[in-house]
Amino acid sequence: MPACASQPCLRRAVKVSRIQEPEARSQKIYTADVILPITSPPIKDGAVFVKDGRIIAIGNRDNLIAANPDEDVLEFRDALLMPGLVNLHGHLECSSFDFLAKPAPFPKWITKMIKASSKMQRSDWLAASRLGVKRYFEAGITCTADITRTGLGVQAVAEAGMPGIVYLEAVAIDNNNLADAVVDILERIKSAESVMHFGYFKLGLSPHSAYTLSESALKVCAQISKEYGLPLSIHLAETRAELELIRDGSGPLASTIGRRLELEAIKSKGSSKTPTEFLDGLALINKSLVAAHGVWLSEGDIKLLKKKNASVALCPTSNELLGSGEAPVNQFIKHGLRFGFGTDSIASNPDFDLFIEARKARMLLAKQTGVKKNQIPLSPEELIKTITIKAAEVLGLSSELGSIEPGKRADFAVIDYDNRQPIDPYNHLIEKVSKSSVSNTILAGEVVYKRS
Ligand SMILES: [Zn+2]
Repeated sequence: MPACASQPCLRRAVKVSRIQEPEARSQKIYTADVILPITSPPIKDGAVFVKDGRIIAIGNRDNLIAANPDEDVLEFRDALLMPGLVNLHGHLECSSFDFLAKPAPFPKWITKMIKASSKMQRSDWLAASRLGVKRYFEAGITCTADITRTGLGVQAVAEAGMPGIVYLEAVAIDNNNLADAVVDILERIKSAESVMHFGYFKLGLSPHSAYTLSESALKVCAQISKEYGLPLSIHLAETRAELELIRDGSGPLASTIGRRLELEAIKSKGSSKTPTEFLDGLALINKSLVAAHGVWLSEGDIKLLKKKNASVALCPTSNELLGSGEAPVNQFIKHGLRFGFGTDSIASNPDFDLFIEARKARMLLAKQTGVKKNQIPLSPEELIKTITIKAAEVLGLSSELGSIEPGKRADFAVIDYDNRQPIDPYNHLIEKVSKSSVSNTILAGEVVYKRS
């Protein structure tokens, strides 16, 4: 019997909300030298008409203003206006851990993370989560796939009115604390309900990884996810140490975290499976899954993820800082595996910049394929799609956001763009832009960040 099935009262109490309509807001026309709708060609001297947080119309600046002469107009000069960016993997509540963002081997880094976390009070986690939201806006990020252990990430995202998925994290669960941990997860789902009705996000579940929960705990997470319809996010194949622990029952994570949690993979001297195969055997690889990192995926793993319609959130900067390795992006493309980019937490990514993540993936591809820049099998346009519309598709939110189209949310990033030297806007974004180029961020039609 699923552990959660023994909690019928909690089950009834939980209602996982769908994305709700933004509140009634003002109406306005935003203009820019270039509007980049993503799903249609760029519009030179363009404009977007926004009403009540939604896009009403998009087109030529002069025509749109002439058709709506009484509307307020906000002009962005020397600017490109594009959809807000979609972050496929983050931990807002870790946003005060920038002191940990130094090169270190992963097993050492995660031990420091656990130590730093033990010193945090609830008020600290909430303050960090709010700080993280502020940093997202500074970076043009308006949609998040965020993981929260304390549940306070839910509050920060709800307060900000940010759309996305907030995954409640399950971590450090062994067979000794399993019963208490299940009650804790169910209570966190229930308490999240109190803020869901004024948020624009969906709730998800994040069993942290194959190496920080016992097999029984992972099975329970699969059952809770199914029972409550919660999409999944898991750190998967992030390090060689993870692969060694699950496959062989050895390595630096086996001798620390794995031993402490008395994992079955260590007792049996390895499962002889990759982490992906191992999790698939526990019903955790499915269409709802966003697997974070995916550095040590074999070709067989990539085929398996593709077969199950799962997606990967690549985190190149985080992997680089912790010496985790380089994800086989060329294999992802070869097998048609869906992927996007994640900042991860500031504890392993001081940049916190999705433009840089996309640029680094392009460099990885150039290295892995050995071709010239203009022959890389992922064009600048495709790369920009992976941090907007394609990432929205991964989260099941592409009918709401990820492109500038009538009916969608008015979530935008305004980027510096010198109209006197016009170049292809996609090339400009991939070659030149970083988060410091973001001059304004707009959420549901309201400016939530303006560079000083
Ligand atoms: Zn992470």
